[in-house]
Parts: sequence; C-alpha cells; structure tokens
Amino acid sequence: MRTEFPLRLAVLLSFFAIPLAAVAQTALPAPVEGHDVTEIGPGYYTFRHKGLRNIFLVTKAGVIVTDPIEPEAARVLREEIRKITPLPVKYVVYSHQHWDHVRGGRIFKEEGAKFVSHANCVAHFKDLPEPEIVMPDETFTGERHELRLGERTLKLRYLGPNHGDCLIVMTPDHVNVPFIVDLGTAGGMPLPYIADYSLHNWVRSLRELESWDFESYVGGHGIAIAPKNRLTERREYVEGLMQETRRELDAGTPLDRIPDIVAARLQTKFAHLRGFNAIVRDNVRRTITYYGMGW
Ligand SMILES: [Zn+2]
Repeated sequence: MRTEFPLRLAVLLSFFAIPLAAVAQTALPAPVEGHDVTEIGPGYYTFRHKGLRNIFLVTKAGVIVTDPIEPEAARVLREEIRKITPLPVKYVVYSHQHWDHVRGGRIFKEEGAKFVSHANCVAHFKDLPEPEIVMPDETFTGERHELRLGERTLKLRYLGPNHGDCLIVMTPDHVNVPFIVDLGTAGGMPLPYIADYSLHNWVRSLRELESWDFESYVGGHGIAIAPKNRLTERREYVEGLMQETRRELDAGTPLDRIPDIVAARLQTKFAHLRGFNAIVRDNVRRTITYYGMGW
C-alpha cells in the first residue's frame, strides 16, 4: 500500500480548513498491523512495518535504507523498493543499537550494501551479539557525517547520549524532514520503564532538536509525518515527570505513594497521550530510580 500522505492530507485539510497541527493533536491512531510506504518528498520514503518505521532514499545510483527492523520487515521492504527502482541497496544506516530497529539487515548485506552507524553502536553489538544484526562496515565518531549516493546526500547528526549512546538523526539534504527515532513518538507515551533513556540527556537532545529549523519529522514509530511540536510535548512531559517526582522525593513522600500523586498532576496536561493511564505510574517508578542512581 502506498499513500501520498502530504498531498492526500493537504486536500482533506483544505476542505475542512483544519491546520495540520490541529489534526495531529487529535492523535490519528497509529496502525500496528501490516505495512505501507509513504512518499515524503522526491525519492524520500518512509516504510512502516507493524509498529515500526524507517526511511529510505532512492537515488540515481542506488538506494540508502535505514533501520531494517527485523528479517520479515526487511524482506517486505526489499519488495517495496523493487516496485520503485531496479537499482541495488547500497547503504543501510542504523539509527541506534536497539534490536527492535536494527535486526534483519542480512538480505541487504547479501546484495552488497555497506552498513553504517555511529561508532558507539559497535561496542553494544560486540558485548551482546545478536545473530540477526549485521555489524557496521563504516562508522563515524564526531557530531556530523554525510552519506552521498548519486545526486542525494543523507546528513547524519549525533547529539550525544540520550536514548542509548549512539543514536543519530538523519535528514536528506533535499527534503527538510528529519528521521528521529525513539526521542518523540507522536501522540504516544514512552515505554513503561523508559528503558535505556538518560532523562536529562533526553531533555537536552529534545531542546536541541526544537532549535533546529524544520516543521515536521518522521519518527521510528507511529504516524508517517509528525509536526515538530510533538517533540516539545515530549520534552514537557519528561520535564514534568522529573520535576514532580523530584518534588515528592524532596518532601519525603513514601515511595509507594509517589506514582499516584505524580500521575494525578501530569494528567491535566498529558492525559490525551495514548496509554497515559496504563503507563504513567511506571514512568514515575523509573524516574524514582533515576534520582536514586543518576541513570
Ligand atoms: Zn530504541
């Protein structure tokens, strides 16, 4: 299934005279079954498989794929790319080291693709090998790296540790819609235990992204294109979580009472996020641990 998301949505919105941000605020439900491909701009696509999403760039010299997700997703993605171009996949770029995003790349390795990630990912892959993960062939250590293929360039930016310590944000130089994985899933809540997030670094990275000049982004989960203000909403949620939890810890509130108290305070502003009631108390428990351990 292929949809021209911006165009279709723009037509619909002009009919109802609704701004994009307003629609996104009402949280379009993110599909969790099947797959689809959405064209973001010329040669710039996002592929969704169940609840996960990547981007790929089709150029005159071949294709740059990002997170392969898992073997079945990669197989489906390969078929979808073949419907667009007969050219080979030349690069696979990992957004970060987490297995749910980067398993299944072997199919692209077999056709000769080079695998790229931030250098910090490699230690994780060596520390806990996962047979379905192809080791990177090319890594970079600084804040910036560029991948050129044919007439296109994919800009890679490392913001420091935030979610894991090797996450990169990718933006094609011809379409100003970055691919931002796991730092701000539009309309959703963080996972219950906020696994492998450094809370203060998460806030710092979100502030940096908010300072960038762009209007919308592709996330690693959820809807195809999310308005930038969803990153602000995520930062404000994390800041609220941290401030309210800290306040109760400082007041000496018994630990087992803190989740309910903080949940009630955050509810006024964030109850619209998918899964708020089911998840918020676990988010608070994780934040209590963060203030106990510094991580
Ligand atoms: Zn992750």
